Amino acid sequence: MPTIHSIDLNFLGEPAAIAAFAVEDSAGVTLVECGPYATHETLIAGLKAVGISPSDVHTLLLTHIHFDHAGAAWWWARHGTSVYVHPKGLKHMIDPTRLYASAARIYGEDNMESLWGKMEKIDPYDIAAVLDRDRLTFGGNTWVAHHTPGHASHHIAWQLGKVVFTGDVGGVMIQGGPVVPPCPPPDINVTHWRESIQRLRSLRAETFYLTHYGPVPGGNAHLESLSNRLDEYVAWVAAARQAGKTEEEMVAGFTQFSEDNLRAEGVSEAIIKAYRAANPPYMSVAGILRWLERQ
Ligand SMILES: [Zn+2]
Repeated sequence: MPTIHSIDLNFLGEPAAIAAFAVEDSAGVTLVECGPYATHETLIAGLKAVGISPSDVHTLLLTHIHFDHAGAAWWWARHGTSVYVHPKGLKHMIDPTRLYASAARIYGEDNMESLWGKMEKIDPYDIAAVLDRDRLTFGGNTWVAHHTPGHASHHIAWQLGKVVFTGDVGGVMIQGGPVVPPCPPPDINVTHWRESIQRLRSLRAETFYLTHYGPVPGGNAHLESLSNRLDEYVAWVAAARQAGKTEEEMVAGFTQFSEDNLRAEGVSEAIIKAYRAANPPYMSVAGILRWLERQ
């Protein structure tokens, strides 16, 4: 198995909230995820600390185009790195205008720069889309792209032998806390997510690398917990909606419910802050509500 470095992007000053992964091969380094441009200097410093310079990075594999995973991709493309993405994400990386506007509606225009930093266009020559189960070989490593919608319609889990980089479809699990599903708008699809969990199950991975955060044992126990928690989250929002609660009331209630769940499993307040940075509860309310309304 090649050497894999987990680089902590220290997003919003929180350790273990967002990772990028540097995978060594005989041609240099493949990055999986690059984080937002706001943490770009931290990524460069983290790579340097393990002896990697930006010019070693020949390939960037994106799990999806949310800013916390792909915001800095344009910088890498501009510096000679080939970027790979899901076909539905391609046009938004080539021209991020709509992606940026949609994120600004969710996060607020005033917060965009401090949260994510700038996002620029990628030259179509520097980025390519991959189909489901496509295989790509770089420097002796063969990667398989698994289209895994649910968290986002344009999500890929990247398999490298017994390791799968699960992006967000494999959930968020920080510092030994429980695994939880991040459910932001706009395109959560619980039905597709359950199917993607089946796909992940079929890969018989020894290790999942979660972007939020780091390696965890792959396999059924993890996926079972994720699936159960997804059902709980959806049931909570559905019940609140049925009861006629406003979205504001739901956000307050869901934050309490989801964070009390973490506390009940022994998660410290410091680590709850990292969960909040990686996966804000108000986002999951908005995402699940939107999915329920589409049913
Ligand atoms: Zn995401």
